[in-house]
Amino acid sequence: MPSSHDFSTRAIHSGQSFDPTTGAVIPPIYQTSTFVQDGIGGFRGGYEYARGGTPTRTSLETLVADLEGAKHGFSFGSGLAGEDTLLRAVLAPGDHVIMGNDVYGGTHRLVNRVFVPWGIELDTVEMTDLDAVRASIRPNTKVLWLETPSNPLMKISDIAALVEIGHAAGVLVVVDNTFASPYLQNPLADGADVVTHSATKYLGGHSDVLGGAVVLNDDELAEKIGFLQFAVGPVSGPMDAWLTTRGIKTLAVRMERHSSNAQAIAEALVAHPAVERVYYPGLSTHPGHEIAARQMRAFGGMISVGLAGGAAAARAFAESTELFQLAESLGGVESLISYPSEMTHASVRGTALEVPANVTRLSVGIEGVDDLLSDLLSTLDRVNAL
Ligand code: PLP
Repeated sequence: MPSSHDFSTRAIHSGQSFDPTTGAVIPPIYQTSTFVQDGIGGFRGGYEYARGGTPTRTSLETLVADLEGAKHGFSFGSGLAGEDTLLRAVLAPGDHVIMGNDVYGGTHRLVNRVFVPWGIELDTVEMTDLDAVRASIRPNTKVLWLETPSNPLMKISDIAALVEIGHAAGVLVVVDNTFASPYLQNPLADGADVVTHSATKYLGGHSDVLGGAVVLNDDELAEKIGFLQFAVGPVSGPMDAWLTTRGIKTLAVRMERHSSNAQAIAEALVAHPAVERVYYPGLSTHPGHEIAARQMRAFGGMISVGLAGGAAAARAFAESTELFQLAESLGGVESLISYPSEMTHASVRGTALEVPANVTRLSVGIEGVDDLLSDLLSTLDRVNAL
């Protein structure tokens, strides 16, 4: 697919070719574990065994790489499976990782509880403080890992500035682009080395599939990741790869609507007396607003809300909305609410990554914005009256 085509066009057509046997417009789900050989080693389409690859997985990998402007794309059975594979490909015992201090709790748990016991050193740093990042780099630092917007405090890191710091020290810069999606932000274009996704979120977009993606330009690192993907097997199955590909076709229109709904909701929540603070980069008062405006196309569908009434009010809010369903995860067409300190970020309680107990997180869906506003504001009125 020519890179001159618009994002929406590429999201629908890249990596997709109609089925030559039947003419079906949508490529079939190749639900097979193995491929017949015309004599030993005679592979018809280059496929041998599904752990090594399937046409359905290739479609998705081609598509995600194209949308992120990358040469290589890999898809996995979950976001964490992709992160694990990438880190195995890059790290050896004795290496040092620097991670943002409010990355997804599961990413911190992966490094802290799986890689640290294996001999990796980990520091968590405030990624919006460039001097602190610079000061945390050591001779053995291999990876600088950031999320922007971050989960759940919606901090914005300056990707280009962090890339400059990382590259000056020969450090690989990895951006978890899950919250923004490739429609809103392309970190490789800002100089990052690797982009990861939990495809479970905006890429899939319908809360019906678990998946991950890793994209990059470097041939040597891509070869190592491809080898591990085959040798270890954390791959996405054909059905999951197909569902993710289908989800991505509408990514551009979904992200526009997620963003406009979230902007209206963030602006309304700021004015409510039950609310102490709204964390949303689309608000001009957000400390990262200008950086976000520079590196993102719009501000996304994720908002965190700090309640004036503390933990009790936050719990009551999260448990009382109707359209916003209480659940882990994000990025689906339907709105969700969560209480990070006891849900997504329970694993980082007691660490520097602990989330304030008065914070709830909204994944704003693409429903009618007036319905969403009325659900949130009427619930906040009730919480305020408690
Ligand atoms: N990165 C971010 C920002 C996430 O929010 C998540 C999951 O919530 C992950 C990575 C992990 O992805 P998965 O749950 O698909 O393994």
